[in-house]
Amino acid sequence: MAHSEEKPKLGISSCLLGSEVRYDGGHKHNTYVTGTLGQYFDFVPFCPEQGIGLPTPRPPIRLVAEPGQALIRAVEVRDATVDFSKALDEFAKKVCNGLSEYSGYIVKKDSPSCGMERVKVYEKENAPAVKRGVGMFTARLMQQRPELPVEEEGRLTDPRLRENFVTRVFTMHRWQQMLADGLTAQDLVEFHTRHKFLLQVHYESTYRELGRLIADIGNRDLETCAAEYLQLLMRCLKHLADPGKHANVLMHIMGFVKEKLNTDEKSELLDLIEAHRLEMVPVIVPITLLNHFLRRFPNDYIARQYYLAPHPRELMLRNSI
Ligand code: SF4
Repeated sequence: MAHSEEKPKLGISSCLLGSEVRYDGGHKHNTYVTGTLGQYFDFVPFCPEQGIGLPTPRPPIRLVAEPGQALIRAVEVRDATVDFSKALDEFAKKVCNGLSEYSGYIVKKDSPSCGMERVKVYEKENAPAVKRGVGMFTARLMQQRPELPVEEEGRLTDPRLRENFVTRVFTMHRWQQMLADGLTAQDLVEFHTRHKFLLQVHYESTYRELGRLIADIGNRDLETCAAEYLQLLMRCLKHLADPGKHANVLMHIMGFVKEKLNTDEKSELLDLIEAHRLEMVPVIVPITLLNHFLRRFPNDYIARQYYLAPHPRELMLRNSI
């Protein structure tokens, strides 16, 4: 696909980049985000609380609700009648309308504005908070753009969540590059074909659902089909890959070269796939050997599969167990 040199554009909570925008005048600089991910993504910072006109420093905000009720409000800690819910929601709507070129979003955990999950909600005076909230800004972001990969910086320390998020971002970026060139039915079929093993390693049954959608493409309006495909695609990739699913996909790919391998080579590859299934080696180990065999015995269909290189190798996202 074209434009491969363009970096994916990501929205991000400003304080994670080191901007001193927090209520106390501080920041929450995340060095993995700026030092590592920053080499591969273009970040566009947003601070929702500054975006609604609040100064820095400012009185802190928290989420409150009636016990067990769904309606959650963002209010000043010292005076619950000062309610920022509407302003934060309006700001989020405005930001969402300009996010069509964005491939993902990284938000600050625990924040009543930016947190993605388990944000403290205060239900009763002098009682411990319940961790059931979503920051006001991020709640609207996820509701209005359900297909957009969104992740908290705290969860990016988990290797599987990190790999999953970055895979979704790069897949979204490939999708956006395809649309930028003008979508054709053939593009959509090719996109699906090249993502086959990547989709299978995340969620086989949604992969099959996507396949049925593609098979019906000639009888449907292309744009409607593409919109449905994108929602399903991102839902599929949200499922975490695991060693068992990787082992199944690797065995499948091995089938394309195994006739060319001698007995020792076959058993070495099988051993490494099994070692990964048993979580003794990271998935990069059998993939590296498989790639070595694929270089000796090229196969066009496999070479075009994004499964083997869904994101830059230098990020080393497949090097953990
Ligand atoms: S968490 Fe969000 S609202 Fe709070 S300082 Fe960071 S960017 Fe601003």
